[in-house]
Amino acid sequence: MKPVMVVVLVDALGWSLVGHDAAFAPVLAERRPLATVLGFSSGALPTAFTGKLAREHGRWLMYRRAPEGGGVFRGLEWLRWLPARLRQSWRLTQWLTAQVARRVRGYFNLYEVPREELPAFDLPEQSDIFAPGGLPCDSLWDSLERRKLAWQGWNWRTSEPEARAQALAALERGGHDLVFVYSAVLDARLHHEGTQGAGVRTNVAEWSRWFGDAADAARRAGREPWLYLCSDHGMVDVTRTVDVMRALEALPVARGRDYLAFFDSTMARFWWHTPAAREAVRAALGPAQHGRWLAPQDLAEAGADFADHRYGDDVFLLDPGVLMVPSYMGRAPLAAMHGYDPTHPDMPGVLMSNRPLPPATTHLSHLRAFLEQELDALSAAGSGAA
Ligand SMILES: [Zn+2]
Repeated sequence: MKPVMVVVLVDALGWSLVGHDAAFAPVLAERRPLATVLGFSSGALPTAFTGKLAREHGRWLMYRRAPEGGGVFRGLEWLRWLPARLRQSWRLTQWLTAQVARRVRGYFNLYEVPREELPAFDLPEQSDIFAPGGLPCDSLWDSLERRKLAWQGWNWRTSEPEARAQALAALERGGHDLVFVYSAVLDARLHHEGTQGAGVRTNVAEWSRWFGDAADAARRAGREPWLYLCSDHGMVDVTRTVDVMRALEALPVARGRDYLAFFDSTMARFWWHTPAAREAVRAALGPAQHGRWLAPQDLAEAGADFADHRYGDDVFLLDPGVLMVPSYMGRAPLAAMHGYDPTHPDMPGVLMSNRPLPPATTHLSHLRAFLEQELDALSAAGSGAA
């Protein structure tokens, strides 16, 4: 029987959530934690698809400082002249989102980034990272094209129920060598409900059943199902919030004038205009805000050291379980978050399969090489049996 590879990436499916549950997707008997990278999916997915770290593929966080000459928000400098009420309006957000979507094919969200500060930043993900040619360096999708395989992928652009149904239908027809499904539904439910949420349990149970259905569909089409379930990171329940922005307001140095800053949910990133700003802000943020300053060596070990400091001159990272509220990503507290130190026990994702897993495949950056090996095996099996 000619094999078909079924690769599913469920965003935020943590090892600590399902790894030890033998009733979860019993067809995927081979399983292990998959260590993740520092940051969020905007950096983790490119690492999964290319096998490279942020410094090599260039993607780390959703927002970076704008390059010389401006980024995707260039031409929007007039936003600063709008009255605050208008700048914060839902209508302006809708209009801006539509404008940016005309320039950007990648995933983005304006969140709560102050509209007048947008021109100082840029969105690194401007093309479709799930398509050939969509990443700055060679990816799994480029490899699938080179191998001339019959494949199809679904991502956040399709709803999860539709993606699952269409992938099953493709398996039922039997014409594909590989189907790929990415979903961010579990990630959203975890953020809102926490790891014990009812909607989280429902979604996990749906995926558990889906793998059985996928195996059955492939066999009915005369294809041997090679199943892979992976994820880009886990999820940590939020135990406290901190107001980092307020801690900075009391300082004699001011955002905009003395430094530029971006507040992710778990990180505050700074670009200094003056040495005094650096000194004051670094002294103001510390253990009292439940976080620590990353040393250059920390960033180098995380593979997130950029010579041009496009993601920040300095990064303050919160402790696992601590959420920045407010941040540029949201004003309301959430039940769970990721983007913490990757060594926290709830941070690893999963790698599960009905195929043997090589002992050395333990980190997200190893995923692509493993899938390439499986593609080699698929070609060998295909040419023998077909
Ligand atoms: Zn998330």
